[in-house]
Amino acid sequence: MEKDTISKTLKILQNHFSQERKTTLNRMRGEDPYKILVGCIVSINIKDEVTEKILEELFEKADSFEELLKLEQEELERMLYLARYRKIKANTLKNISKEILDKYNGKVPDTKEELLKIKGIGPKTANVVLNFAFNKPYIPIDSNTLRITNRIGWITTEKHADVEIMLIKNLDETTLKNANALFMLHGKTICVPVSPFCSRCPVNELCAKVGVEKSR
Ligand code: SF4
Repeated sequence: MEKDTISKTLKILQNHFSQERKTTLNRMRGEDPYKILVGCIVSINIKDEVTEKILEELFEKADSFEELLKLEQEELERMLYLARYRKIKANTLKNISKEILDKYNGKVPDTKEELLKIKGIGPKTANVVLNFAFNKPYIPIDSNTLRITNRIGWITTEKHADVEIMLIKNLDETTLKNANALFMLHGKTICVPVSPFCSRCPVNELCAKVGVEKSR
């Protein structure tokens, strides 16, 4: 796949979704790294509206790792009541807070190597933090990004890391930093998992529709 086609596709998606409201995490871009990291953990596998609601209360009660660590476990789980895996998430948040306070003086590290040393932080969360909190050229790969890049025909893989390498190779820094928000919006509204809306897709002409057996 030509580099120009990949950039062109992203540009079309950028124009198409320019007026759309971005996800809570995307709207938090540039905020305190503590908030980005906590927001990312809370948001895993839940709807954006739920993430927004939970974070509003959570940041009101705890706007630093110290304060989060001081929260009673039951209180934290109660705040996460709408989130899937609330017990696991509450434990992860407490463990991460403790580790960052103990080993990093309360400051979120700004390199992938250090972030991945912290238990509870995986490659996707690390990339979100590096991109959204530190404005570095990393892209979190989620299920939307994986599905869309395969369908369009840019890559054939099930591995998130392969998609990340391919996008880094083919996109300039600014486009790369914004691409995740576009894939999320496109995957949620048009290139949905089952029977995508190809007839009203702005990148229809550029898409190979790999594996798409049924579309609308
Ligand atoms: S044409 Fe269809 S499969 Fe291709 S990106 Fe658009 S919605 Fe997805």
